Amino acid sequence: MITASPAARLLPPAADWRELWRASITDAGELLRTVQLGHLAGRLPPGDAGFALRVPRGFAARMRPGDPDDPLLLQVLPQLAELEQAPGYVADPVGDLAAREAQGLLHKYEGRALLIASGSCAVNCRYCFRRHFPYGEEMAAAGQWRKALDHLRQDASIAELILSGGDPLSLATPKLEELSRGLAALPQVTRLRIHTRLPVVLPERIDAAFLAWFAALPLQKVVVLHANHANEFDAAVDDACRRLREAGATLLNQSVLLKNINDDADTLSELSERLFAAGVLPYYLHQLDRVQGSAHFEVDDARARALVEAIRGRLPGYLVPKLVREMEGDASKRPV
Ligand SMILES: *Cc1c(COP(=O)(O)O)cnc(C)c1O
Ligand code: SF4
Repeated sequence: MITASPAARLLPPAADWRELWRASITDAGELLRTVQLGHLAGRLPPGDAGFALRVPRGFAARMRPGDPDDPLLLQVLPQLAELEQAPGYVADPVGDLAAREAQGLLHKYEGRALLIASGSCAVNCRYCFRRHFPYGEEMAAAGQWRKALDHLRQDASIAELILSGGDPLSLATPKLEELSRGLAALPQVTRLRIHTRLPVVLPERIDAAFLAWFAALPLQKVVVLHANHANEFDAAVDDACRRLREAGATLLNQSVLLKNINDDADTLSELSERLFAAGVLPYYLHQLDRVQGSAHFEVDDARARALVEAIRGRLPGYLVPKLVREMEGDASKRPV
């Protein structure tokens, strides 16, 4: 018979996700010391290379101590290479970012509209196009998405609303409740999709209050996670995924193809298998947005296609993500 140990019985209740978020590592030297690489501090770029470091401690705990090439570490650690100017790499590679910020709503594709619900993220990924627009939480706080909802009310063609960002789950649950009350006035919207990295980097976010709100939504629900490597998963992430599924969500994942992080067939296969073990299907594998400071992450198209062909030869079709690139002005993501 198994009985709880006295120590287990004394454990405090699960920590509040916002406290865990506030307690994130924000200093690159501290991150290096945490993974037993303090001796590499001299290689850090000055001033975080212009994009703040932010890593939840639970995510850092999944990095391999003492390994400077750890695939999770490389996604978040500022590098000197970010200071290099590469031709074609610009501050705003998706072009309409300024417009996104002002509007809060992007309606580029038929039947789907994307709402920038929050500018914040739980983790700052070095390859992200957001790196030159650290626009904080003002957007939701200022209620800009209410204007977006007014706009949606005029458009009967939109059946799916996508909450994106930043990370929409960085919003407090009462904010999400407020948003869904607005959605109730939009009968044409039958699907809600959430693009989020939080269940992966801070799985405590999927707490009881969130799940109560989410499960009660009278909509079809899709959650698109963002994980790039199998090592990002652990028991807590599996648990968050299971709870999301039990609350009625279909779970998908999008990844970015990143040099030295996941650009080999074994790593991509393991990622697909690990996603499936967590009840998640791979959806998109994105070619990098060419944002200034990210050129060292780029994998060229020929190699990207060869990698996807290689995993197609090994995995069931439903575990092979679609290789895509986002092009300004296109009516959908463009297959590479
Ligand atoms: C990526 C994206 C979507 C979603 O596209 P899917 O192919 O349906 O995943 C919708 N709107 C915008 C503006 C996007 O960038
Ligand atoms: S938007 Fe996504 S990729 Fe960019 S920093 Fe946030 S979590 Fe990372």
